[in-house]
Amino acid sequence: MAPSRGLFVLVTNPTATPDVASEVVVVGAGLGGLLAALLLAEDGHRVVVLERDGAEPPGEPAGAWDEWERRGVAQFRQLYYLLPRFRHVADRELPALSAALEKVALRHDPLAGMAGAGVGDDDVVTLTARRPTVEAVVARLAAMHPGIEIRRGVVVNGLTRTPAAAGSVPDVAGVSTAMGEVAANLVVDATGRRSPLSAWLAAIGVPPVPEVVEDSGFVYHSRHFRSSDGAMPALSAPLLRHFGSLSVLLLPAEAGTWGVGLITSSRDEELRSLHRPDRWMAVARALGPVVRWVEGEPITGVDVMTRLEDRRRTLCRDSRPLVTGVVPLADAWASTNPTLGRGTTLAILHAVALRDTLRAVGLADPARFSLAWHDVTERDLGPHYDAIVTADRHRLAEIDAAVAGVPYEGGDVAWRAYRMLEDVAHLDVELLRGWYRIAGLIAPGTEVFAADGFLRRVARAARRSTVEPLPTRHELIALATG
Ligand SMILES: Cc1cc2nc3c(=O)[nH]c(=O)nc-3n(C[C@H](O)[C@H](O)[C@H](O)COP(=O)(O)OP(=O)(O)OC[C@H]3O[C@@H](n4cnc5c(N)ncnc54)[C@H](O)[C@@H]3O)c2cc1C
Repeated sequence: MAPSRGLFVLVTNPTATPDVASEVVVVGAGLGGLLAALLLAEDGHRVVVLERDGAEPPGEPAGAWDEWERRGVAQFRQLYYLLPRFRHVADRELPALSAALEKVALRHDPLAGMAGAGVGDDDVVTLTARRPTVEAVVARLAAMHPGIEIRRGVVVNGLTRTPAAAGSVPDVAGVSTAMGEVAANLVVDATGRRSPLSAWLAAIGVPPVPEVVEDSGFVYHSRHFRSSDGAMPALSAPLLRHFGSLSVLLLPAEAGTWGVGLITSSRDEELRSLHRPDRWMAVARALGPVVRWVEGEPITGVDVMTRLEDRRRTLCRDSRPLVTGVVPLADAWASTNPTLGRGTTLAILHAVALRDTLRAVGLADPARFSLAWHDVTERDLGPHYDAIVTADRHRLAEIDAAVAGVPYEGGDVAWRAYRMLEDVAHLDVELLRGWYRIAGLIAPGTEVFAADGFLRRVARAARRSTVEPLPTRHELIALATG
């Protein structure tokens, strides 16, 4: 079938119309793809979203956890939390999304009720819910937008290429599917962390694109719980705590549900039996701050997620595009260990950057656009990726040290200061505010630590804090192995 241009109905938004509206194909209706579709359609672009999973989202987002089958997203029912920065961006860029989330999500104010918390602390308040609920909200909004057509059950199997003179930079003309080809001025790859983009590019003659891939090194053992009265266990502490060789995530969610994750190093064979619900419970109950969080009714078994890759790619080399007409977005650009819960927030920031790059540069000169996309991605998103990978490497080394029974002596000054903050943030509202501002991507660590006396306060808290009685490594293994 020949590529057909002009498949779309032109819808323009009078408040934000770019000079030339484009036909955009987004591959993947995950959160990154849908957020990009919404932002581009609001700007007057005509967007077709192609999603391989056939199941439609449920009529009501509240039913998504029980009803929605999403085989294409391995982490669909894994631990999930939306950072405050996501709410800030959505409030500004997609207010209809914030309004829709308000109706079903939990408004989580991590400093609520703490002495010393105040009006100015609104910036660490977030709207959060389990992943299926959040995605159903975004999917419903996208489905209602007249500028967006979502076709579910369509597997994209490659890219098509514009006929061009030998030696010119390959230009993507659209995508191919089992149902035929779909033409586009721009293809957005939002197929997630297992994106096949590199293989698709090779198949149309694009030279190998720079890509780094390595195992992130962590294993997730997570469970979800529900309370009988809709209440949430109190949490005046960071969402992430470290207990020697084990890290724990406590993630509040909507409708009286929450997630608890026990995270280990993939090198740590002695804790592998945490996939067993009885062993998982035995370990969780031995960790003082976690006990109340596992007293609810479990609504899942133990979901294990392993072999999570750190992956990052660019379609440019030496400031020259290797291909034009296609951009990788969100996890298809870069994905990391998700412990810090940044994926969707980085996805919305990336989608805003895509809209802004289209506004600023347009597609008339495809090479200029591709280069601009590379530059903005590396400048604005690249440092987040680097920060996560650096923190992960230190944490894995710290786990190795805990397994060996020795203190971890490595780490740069910034990481050590942040790590100290993680251990003491529950002791004092000012420290907890600082932790949520950094972890919620509200302010960089350098800014929070530069505040007068903050570092001294952290150090003082670390000196004074009494260590909670926690299982030794030996006891932990005994609990995990039964
Ligand atoms: C264990 C885990 C926990 C996480 N926890 C959090 C968290 O707490 N907070 C947070 O913000 N982020 C979290 N993330 C990250 C978050 O899920 C993603 O970063 C974010 O949703 C953006 O994903 P995406 O849209 O790029 O990809 P995905 O959500 O993976 O969506 C990709 C879509 O592409 C479709 N697709 C793939 N191939 C094709 C094809 N050939 N044709 C058509 N469609 C295709 C898939 O079916 C899927 O729908 C977590 C990730 C993991 C792995």
